[in-house]
Amino acid sequence: MTNTLDDKAIVKDYFNATGFDRWRRIYGDGEVNKVQKDIRIGHQQTLDTVIGWLESDDNLPNLSICDAGCGVGSLSIPLAKAGATIFASDISEKMVTEAKERAAKELADTSKLTFAVQDLEALTGQYHTVICLDVLIHYPTEEALGMIKHLASLAQSRLILSFAPKTCLLTILKKIGQFFPGPSKTTRAYQHKEKTIVAALNENGFKIERTSMTSTRFYFSRILEAVRSE
Ligand code: SAM
Repeated sequence: MTNTLDDKAIVKDYFNATGFDRWRRIYGDGEVNKVQKDIRIGHQQTLDTVIGWLESDDNLPNLSICDAGCGVGSLSIPLAKAGATIFASDISEKMVTEAKERAAKELADTSKLTFAVQDLEALTGQYHTVICLDVLIHYPTEEALGMIKHLASLAQSRLILSFAPKTCLLTILKKIGQFFPGPSKTTRAYQHKEKTIVAALNENGFKIERTSMTSTRFYFSRILEAVRSE
């Protein structure tokens, strides 16, 4: 039996404390250890894939995008730079504060980028595209499916998700485990079966359009772009 409220409270506390320091460094450009460097590179590949998909459609300035679980703004900031209207939110206040600071430094005009501290399941509104990268890893599959259902309800046309696929279970659990050592082991890494995620997307009215897989030594992320099929 899972308890969503407990899981969310644990994840929120983690990303407002030790997790914030760790992931802010990984998602930055300063000195990091070898494993963190590998994860930084892998994560950047995931971002590049998604940004590449959106740019190749050549309509970013016309799009409203919801970046659910935006972290430090690694996706939102370049998308806003490319002209999209972005609503970015995260359950962690510290992550959002950092994202706002980075946006203020990196963007000449932040008027198309709005940040909020919010649990993604509390989000409302309608967006052309909803994106949720590397968030589902923090939740058991049952909870992740509830999140997909909610995110699907916000997406008019497209939902882009990334998750750690269950196929490399031992590898990823072992390797990601190194990021949550000892007493700060406050979040766990959950993998999800692709067919379960795809079935959930189908049930919510979406079909798969583009897919990609990022694999480095310590980072694995399956990326699915799903579009409305009805
Ligand atoms: N999506 C960002 C990226 O790829 O750069 C950040 C990924 S980071 C591994 C996971 C983020 O998800 C953290 O910032 C965390 O606070 C956020 N998060 C976790 N659970 C969340 C929830 N229920 N609602 C909103 N954000 C959440």
